[in-house]
Amino acid sequence: AAPAMPDPVQLAEAVRAGDRRALARAITLIESTRADHRVVADALLAALLPHTGRSVRLGISGVPGVGKSTFIEAFGLHVIGLGHKVAVLAVDPSSQRTGGSILGDKTRMVDLSRDPGAFIRPSPAGATLGGVARRTREAMLICEAAGFDVIVVETVGVGQSETAVADMVDLFMLLLLPAGGDELQGIKKGIVELADLVVVNKADGDLAATARHTVADYRHALTLLRHGDWRVPVLSCSAVHKRGIDAIWDTIGEHKAITEGNGQRATRRAEQARAWLWSEIRETLIDRFRAHPAVRADLARIEASVTEGATIPTTAAHALLARFLG
Ligand code: GDP
Repeated sequence: AAPAMPDPVQLAEAVRAGDRRALARAITLIESTRADHRVVADALLAALLPHTGRSVRLGISGVPGVGKSTFIEAFGLHVIGLGHKVAVLAVDPSSQRTGGSILGDKTRMVDLSRDPGAFIRPSPAGATLGGVARRTREAMLICEAAGFDVIVVETVGVGQSETAVADMVDLFMLLLLPAGGDELQGIKKGIVELADLVVVNKADGDLAATARHTVADYRHALTLLRHGDWRVPVLSCSAVHKRGIDAIWDTIGEHKAITEGNGQRATRRAEQARAWLWSEIRETLIDRFRAHPAVRADLARIEASVTEGATIPTTAAHALLARFLG
């Protein structure tokens, strides 16, 4: 049987009181695609909204194998040691297809997941990146209301999800391997430019010398990369040996001080909220459009006609839109 519908006000209070099960339940609620759940989720978020926004929001990306989960575990434990509470969320739109999330998986961060100061949530299932991103944004707000003051949003560095994550955080960190340039590392074009902080991981043992070269190369390549008053630093660390983590946390603190001082953080968050509004409108419209009976009845046929070259896409789009708009 389906669990009873929670009372949003009570659930909000339990989340704020630090109740772990309530936190997990609240996130499950906002991840649900059921219309009746959505109504309760909206009420929950409205109740929590005044208690959000007071965390440091970090995005972390990098190609598979760069050491993201090792880094997040070392980083999370370091930051918890300083008295913070850390929530780790993941954005991985591929989790739907692969049948399991490759990110934010608890088995990958055993020590961190056992720590009472941490909360780890894998990527929500979702057909579209937009859907996954929306749920992660909402989960972030819930975690903030639950008292987590450092939110880490992890994403795999292979596609579009980096932009979605950079669009929901205060600081986007790119992890690199000790190796040659972007292409050799498998980094997609434009991703480095999203970064507010670049970190070369695995700066240890046989890789230490290569890591130093990689840092120097990227420092040179990124001399001109600025986001407002912020010059993008290039650091190195060894996640396995937990070295360099403190300097990264200090740099995140400097970024916070500078961007709060000059208003950049507030502006960025305001722009993110506006972009979220519009992406929500877009997503909802497309969903409704697809679900509309008059559209659904002919969508496959018209789509086929377009792909076969028998109908011009513009004509087909307007014909379908005319049905949708009645
Ligand atoms: P992810 O796929 O980006 O999450 O990468 P993982 O954290 O799973 O790490 C991939 C591999 O790199 C694992 O075998 C790690 O032990 C190793 N690794 C991670 N961080 C370091 C590091 O700082 N130094 C070295 N030498 N290996 C590391």
